[in-house]
Amino acid sequence: NSDLILYVNLELVNKKSSRRYVVQEMLGQGTFGQVAKCWDAETNNYVAVKVIKNQPAFYQQAIMEVSLLRLLNEKFDPDDQHHIVRMLDFFLCQNHLCIAFEMLGNNLYELLKRNSLRGLQMKYVRTFSRQILDALIIMKDAGIIHCDLKPENILIASTVKTAAGVKVIDFGSACMEGKTIYSYIQSRYYRSPEVLLGYPYTTAIDMWSFGCIVAELYIGLPLFPGASEYDVLCRMIEIIGGQPPDDLLRDAKNTGKFFKHVGSIFPSSEARNGASSAYRILSEGEIEARDSKKPKVGRWYFPRGRLDRLIYTYPWKNLSEENLAETEKADCLALVDFLRGLVEFDPNKRWSP
Ligand code: ADP
Ligand code: MG
Repeated sequence: NSDLILYVNLELVNKKSSRRYVVQEMLGQGTFGQVAKCWDAETNNYVAVKVIKNQPAFYQQAIMEVSLLRLLNEKFDPDDQHHIVRMLDFFLCQNHLCIAFEMLGNNLYELLKRNSLRGLQMKYVRTFSRQILDALIIMKDAGIIHCDLKPENILIASTVKTAAGVKVIDFGSACMEGKTIYSYIQSRYYRSPEVLLGYPYTTAIDMWSFGCIVAELYIGLPLFPGASEYDVLCRMIEIIGGQPPDDLLRDAKNTGKFFKHVGSIFPSSEARNGASSAYRILSEGEIEARDSKKPKVGRWYFPRGRLDRLIYTYPWKNLSEENLAETEKADCLALVDFLRGLVEFDPNKRWSP
């Protein structure tokens, strides 16, 4: 890992400045800087250039992005078959680290918005899910955690080869498994229970986010759109049923922020059914009593209710169990089963890619 980073730094120093890339228009803005659509005068192609903010912390993290992407592109996906964005170049320009990527299309959030947030047809949910999983397999093999998987970071790949395709972008928060530094990671709606609770994390956190994305692609809205971390946790508990396992709650750093230790009240009978827990989530009143400054409890809006009802009878789909065709019923059943493997509280039981 440190060798990779050293290598990238050395290469940067030796690169000459050039007038190769001509800015055409701005594509997006993020925490790390801006992304511009550029004309590459050397290859006569459009490219997307991410211009990193000229501050040490952003620079360091971008060096990590370059290192990890190079590892993924060159070593784990040399033939560009696994739905991970291609990095084409990196260089310094007026003290800004710049990374050139292949030019891709809209992100999946933009696609959902175009569709009035009513979700995609199952066939697209299936195709995109398979492709994202393909990328996640490669990342797991490489021991890389993306740490910010969400619809904004999955882009439509407008290749001529495939009819509908996506690619995973934005390794700006990524890290190596076993070398995790930050505890405040992932975007809130897609944040895994172990990160929320402050428990050591692995590539399994990307599978949680992936589950949230798959559900969102189908229903059109985020699965756990919480106004605060507490709100996200409440939504998880209501939609999935159950709560994080006791051993995770016992060892996590932030359990006390959200849960109360109540001890097992009826250990003998209920423990056998797995229904008893030594922890209970705090009530809204208890949460508000602690911190009156910020409203932490979000107003509920769709989706809510149990996961299976949500998928079967989502209002936009205009479906109910009675009027579902057999194939649609089977599709929904399969999707619910799939989602249950992904939005699983216990990272050890959660499905791997
Ligand atoms: P940040 O770390 O700031 O979120 P991203 O790498 O996610 O940066 O880029 C921000 C946005 O810029 C993306 O959500 C996307 O809309 C656009 N973008 C990034 N890379 C590309 C690309 N290769 N092709 C087209 N648009 C891109
Ligand atoms: Mg991003």
